Amino acid sequence: MNWKRAIGLDNLSEEYAFARGESTGYTSAKKIPDHWVPTTCGYCSVGCGIEIGVKDGRAIASRPFELHPVNRGKLCPKGLSEHYTIHAENRAKYPMLRKGGKLVRVGWNEALDVMVERFRATQAKYGAESLGVLSTGQLVTEEFYTLGKLVQLGFGTNNYDGNTTLCMASAVSGYKISFGSDGPPGAYEDLERADVILLIGANLADNHPILCQYLEANRNKTLIVADPRVSKTAMMADIHLPVKPRSDLALLNGIAHILIRYSLVDREYIDKHTAGFADLERFLDAYTPERVAEITGISQETIFKTALLYGRAKAGFIGWTMGVNHSTLGTATVNAICNLALLTGHIGRAGASPFSITGQCNAMGTREAGFTSSLPGYRKFDNSADRAELAAIWGVDESRLPVKRGWAYPDIVEAAVAKKIRALWIIATNPLVSYPNQDVLRHGLSNLDFLVVQDGYHPTPTTELADLVLPAAIWGEKEGTYTNSERRVSKVNKAVQPVGEARSDFDIFLAVAEKLGCRDELYPGWTTVEDAFSEWRRVSKGRLCDYSGISFGLLAEHGAVQWPLTEGADPNATSRLYSDGEFQTPDGRAKLVCTDWVPFPEQPTPGYPFVLNTGRTVEHWHTRTKTREVPILERLSPRAWLEMNPRDAKQLGLRSHDSVDVVSRRGRVRGVELRLTEITAPGQVFMPFHFVETNVNEVTQDAFDPISREPNYKQCAVRVERPGANV
Ligand code: SF4
Repeated sequence: MNWKRAIGLDNLSEEYAFARGESTGYTSAKKIPDHWVPTTCGYCSVGCGIEIGVKDGRAIASRPFELHPVNRGKLCPKGLSEHYTIHAENRAKYPMLRKGGKLVRVGWNEALDVMVERFRATQAKYGAESLGVLSTGQLVTEEFYTLGKLVQLGFGTNNYDGNTTLCMASAVSGYKISFGSDGPPGAYEDLERADVILLIGANLADNHPILCQYLEANRNKTLIVADPRVSKTAMMADIHLPVKPRSDLALLNGIAHILIRYSLVDREYIDKHTAGFADLERFLDAYTPERVAEITGISQETIFKTALLYGRAKAGFIGWTMGVNHSTLGTATVNAICNLALLTGHIGRAGASPFSITGQCNAMGTREAGFTSSLPGYRKFDNSADRAELAAIWGVDESRLPVKRGWAYPDIVEAAVAKKIRALWIIATNPLVSYPNQDVLRHGLSNLDFLVVQDGYHPTPTTELADLVLPAAIWGEKEGTYTNSERRVSKVNKAVQPVGEARSDFDIFLAVAEKLGCRDELYPGWTTVEDAFSEWRRVSKGRLCDYSGISFGLLAEHGAVQWPLTEGADPNATSRLYSDGEFQTPDGRAKLVCTDWVPFPEQPTPGYPFVLNTGRTVEHWHTRTKTREVPILERLSPRAWLEMNPRDAKQLGLRSHDSVDVVSRRGRVRGVELRLTEITAPGQVFMPFHFVETNVNEVTQDAFDPISREPNYKQCAVRVERPGANV
């Protein structure tokens, strides 16, 4: 404290001065920016336009980007406070290398020398495939594209995947099987134009809040929400279907059964554009309303009502998110959703679409350009024509392109447990919070010879285990593009300089390539992300995800545009896939897929009587690395909780706000606050997954969808007890 303050002469007037800002009105002078920089939200896949207010080189405010076509002048609480993430206390500022057991600050040159030397040494000793890479849905598309080339052509390993497998891989696999390619067919506008909307396992109000304004704008809809919880979105519904956990696939098959039995299908569409109807019809015989009511807990009358509403709709929309994807039956359930759309012809028209709503801000970018589950531009690993085409664009020998995808995320972890993966590069993700059954992950990571974690934040539970931490620039500090859930490409702009010595992921990838000696070959003349974007345009040209008509200039003019956009096409037109009924399969027909329901893998028992469901809350983002540093969000939601039905609590002698332990066969989460609520049905409990202090993934099950490899986060058997009981 200075002497003036000590004697009462300094009243901190500079600190507390007020002023009038052009858009803020009368407010704290500290919060009036010098200028605003338009960009795109870096949290969820809704893809809202944001402006970052900058004052004296610091991000001090966020506001909606009024002209952006997605959010129409609104933001959710995370978007409105996003600038706090940039100057957070826990930002990673310098490269840190483990020496003598401790992470110590080093220069970039030493960090990258050591990284490349250790990766090469590991590959020389154990084979190229012993290096794994786990990336994220948080990078810009240009960075995915650059990283994919570096990993697969530079390092020569295809054991490369992203945390996107933890959230939307089942949607990808389902689309590929049903339609021949990934790519959500619809658009947000369909939420306004459908007359019947069925949301399955999609709590938009918490997870994609800005999409609720599209629902609210549609006065003529019937909204049906299938969710075991009475979620905030279920409270908005005309009909809530409180399905038993993981019975949605049976419900969908039951609806399809009724549609066929009562001739509510579009025979002309089926005959012209699909294959497999006869098999599906026979298969669905077993899904009678009686049986489906038994499996789902929904009355036959309500199942009929739902089927009739969807079957008779002029434009029926089915949206889903993690309630469907986070399952061992995720891919099959996506196929069952696509079946309904195909049987009724509710696809490729205004309001009519099956529509996956993705998680992260740029999960879509990694799907298109990412080199993980497919080659860039939705090319297939096992298609020689696809490989040859890509190799020709790049001027490399086709033999350097992998002929199959490498291990998916959980398989990389299991390969680390088995000591087949010996070095790992983790980029912008925090598996020590997000991976199911943390014990297995800890075991795998402890086996590694060398772990590099590249992140905007340090310490995180994952960076703390690293041998090398590379500090990365984050949202607001770098440039590129994100693609949102409706295939809308939106510009991401740099508002401020990266903190400390942090560098953009793009710069880091080029620097690693330089050390590897492949920069000139893979990235000839590249210095900016626009160079990567230019090549990506050429690579995507003629593909379903055609970016050839998109440029940074066009994005600056229009805010955001949907792909496919060929050169000269109208950037303002709403784009839907499969409007012509032509699918990406060899015969152009979509597949009707027989998808059998089975109970989820870990059923409750007397020792573990509750089904644990996990999910999100509107205030926080994923592993809370960012949002715990945003004061208003952290104050609104400072700790995890466990939702339980009051009838169950009464039987256990528990009361609201009691501290309880949640226990599964794999572990124990200690000291969780109990909330008693009818939102959760008897026999079920719910817990958010953001909180490392009480990490629900200590108890979740490492069971995975056999096709997509997505984890079954949503159901496992637990007991709830007072702390200390039976320890
Ligand atoms: S809805 Fe999603 S994209 Fe929009 S402001 Fe909120 S977090 Fe950001």
